[in-house]
Amino acid sequence: MKIVLFILSICLSISGIAQNSISKKVKTAAEQQSVYALELCKHLHQNPELSFQEFETAKRMQAELKAIGFEVTPNFGGNSVVGVLRNGEGPTVFLRTDMDALPVKEATGLPFASTKTADLNGDEVSVMHACGHDIHMSTWTGTLRTLVQLKDEWSGTLVVIAQQAEEYSGGAGNAIDAGLFTTFPKPDYALAYHINPELKTGQIGLRGGPVFAGVKTAEITVYGVGGHGAYPQKCIDPIVIASRIVTDLQTIVSRELSPTEPAVVTVGSIHGGTRPNIIPNEVKLELTLRYFSDETIAKIIASIKRISNAAASMAGMPDDKLPLVHVLPVETPPVINNAALSEKVKHFASDVIGAENIVETQPEMVGEDFGKYGRTPENIPICLIWLGSTSPELMKQLEAEGRRPSPLHSPTLAPDYENTIRTGIEVMTSNVIGLLKK
Ligand SMILES: [Zn+2]
Ligand SMILES: [Zn+2]
Repeated sequence: MKIVLFILSICLSISGIAQNSISKKVKTAAEQQSVYALELCKHLHQNPELSFQEFETAKRMQAELKAIGFEVTPNFGGNSVVGVLRNGEGPTVFLRTDMDALPVKEATGLPFASTKTADLNGDEVSVMHACGHDIHMSTWTGTLRTLVQLKDEWSGTLVVIAQQAEEYSGGAGNAIDAGLFTTFPKPDYALAYHINPELKTGQIGLRGGPVFAGVKTAEITVYGVGGHGAYPQKCIDPIVIASRIVTDLQTIVSRELSPTEPAVVTVGSIHGGTRPNIIPNEVKLELTLRYFSDETIAKIIASIKRISNAAASMAGMPDDKLPLVHVLPVETPPVINNAALSEKVKHFASDVIGAENIVETQPEMVGEDFGKYGRTPENIPICLIWLGSTSPELMKQLEAEGRRPSPLHSPTLAPDYENTIRTGIEVMTSNVIGLLKK
């Protein structure tokens, strides 16, 4: 028994040493590649492009992939660029970065701040990488360069995408519709990052299960019988019906869903009428809906229809003039991290940054189109990882002043680029090598 324990302890310490030496190699190589990735990031930050206009960005991503030996397919489902690298037998890992920036005027004062403008539906707008997709691209490129540098440490296939239009929820769907998982090797795992200013650099945020909410948009057209504002008895006022609908919609989440089921029903716009003394014929409402399961969103939509119809009927509208509820076909489904893959990521990430730097995060009600990759018939396990992007020093200073870091989409979003990118490369490289261990 003693001998068995002795051999076991030797085996464990040998595997510990091997693990340590791989982590060390990953850290050293990531450190080297992060210098290149930081310069790339500054270039991308200065040259942001809006969703569906990522022409130059895509060309750069294509050149980066070619330079390190990927087979490259440009313009896949729009501007997206797909790369494949085969490195022996083994599973296939899919890594995604997004490429698009936002119509935001940068106010960071950084030496490499964006001064770019672009055309958005006929208007000239300022453009900024205010969602950190410049960091995602640089970390992604740095990770791929590191993996190529360490290609003797792993065996398998990489399928990677620099994806267009994450912000408008078009990009992932376009690539999937173009045959992403049937044209290229089918992934066994899919991974991606999103930066998180609420976490410090050196940390990642992770959770198995729901990470980002699903997003749907609904429009309600409320009909009435218009007329003179002085003769309400001769009219059916759609402004009153719409007001009742807005109030009653508040009871869907509070009264109809389980208190443990997160969801949002927000009426973000209401338009009706032209003059104080005219009762209009119709009022339009626009809603954003957030949810984590197909059952929940189905229930929310059914409730919106029931509540809208009831309010109109109660006001005396006939059955053929009840409100029209239109749910827009564009959808960002929820991002649900695969529990087993998240556990693996936790393990591989802790090898390079330590378990104490892995923060268990809560689900967010904002959307991210990465979830679409996990909802195809191929049923690929996905894991979206939050990447801490605020320096510990700045976080400390802000906390002392009772402030929070600038959030995503803010004109003053100024991540700690250098350390965010380095940690990002370390962790993602460790994940891929772990998943494709020889
Ligand atoms: Zn964003
Ligand atoms: Zn984003």
